[in-house]
Amino acid sequence: MTAIKRHEIPIAIRALKTANIYEIFSNRHILVDTGMSPETIPYLEQRGVDLASLDMVIMTHLHIDHIGGAEAIHKEYNIPLAMGIEDIRRVDQIRESPESFQKFLMSFMTLNGTPEGILTKMVSHHSVLDNIGTYKDIDFEIKLKGNEKVDDGISVIHNPGHSPGSMSVYIENDGKLLTGDHLLPGITPNISFYDENSDMLGLYMDSLKKTLKLEPNEILPGHRDPFGNSAERVHQILKHHDERLGQILLAVKEWKTAYEVARIIPWSKGRTLDSMNLLEMNFAIGEAISHLRHLTIDGNAEKRERNGLVEFRSVQT
Ligand SMILES: [Zn+2]
Repeated sequence: MTAIKRHEIPIAIRALKTANIYEIFSNRHILVDTGMSPETIPYLEQRGVDLASLDMVIMTHLHIDHIGGAEAIHKEYNIPLAMGIEDIRRVDQIRESPESFQKFLMSFMTLNGTPEGILTKMVSHHSVLDNIGTYKDIDFEIKLKGNEKVDDGISVIHNPGHSPGSMSVYIENDGKLLTGDHLLPGITPNISFYDENSDMLGLYMDSLKKTLKLEPNEILPGHRDPFGNSAERVHQILKHHDERLGQILLAVKEWKTAYEVARIIPWSKGRTLDSMNLLEMNFAIGEAISHLRHLTIDGNAEKRERNGLVEFRSVQT
């Protein structure tokens, strides 16, 4: 018998307010995700969590609101930490050289048309660089590739898209799926870029279809409340991206940069790129890039580099 307990911890991200940490009791005692900071320890202890008895901590993905408490738990209780190998690789690159990460962001976003004034502010307040202190020393002992059994009837599933190494935890007997930010209620997970070439949106849509095939009974997401109808939610998100792809294709009848596209297309709640704060702007430009890249890989758009800018245009058929 597997029992799961959800701990909803406050986080310092205004749009989300809280993140979920899950405790799995089976043969082993497993924690999934760790909140945003070392404050996770007193928070969980107050709720009666016996951290010393944990066998393992799994982080669904590399974002700060999921890994922020990990190193503190590891240091204090010596619990092995596990995360997707692709995300670990990513964290390793950034902590080896935050300067190269910053340089990559600057040159890549410039290439995609982001004006220098905005970009300088965006990069100097980038959440990854701002939180480098939390990332710096985490010892990821267990590097997950996907399909590993972490307990009897409990396995991890690789769901790339929101991040390259995103993992879901699947409790087979109960059909419960702990999705991290791969599948959320009411929020479309941000799909951006992690390097120059990977088709993150294509990977994400494949991961959604993989989730659909599992037919889980209950989704236990990384934010907000658990929910039942996973197929409906998957279809909503797939539809959202299909519509987005259509809007973007219309926006690139003439050659345009990803930044120009992000300024043209409609965003949720009637917002425009110019009215967004820097973090939202960063997400929006990233979204435009991931969709344009997918259209290009699928042969619906073409790409050229001219005068130091990457531009896209729909392929007229
Ligand atoms: Zn999150």
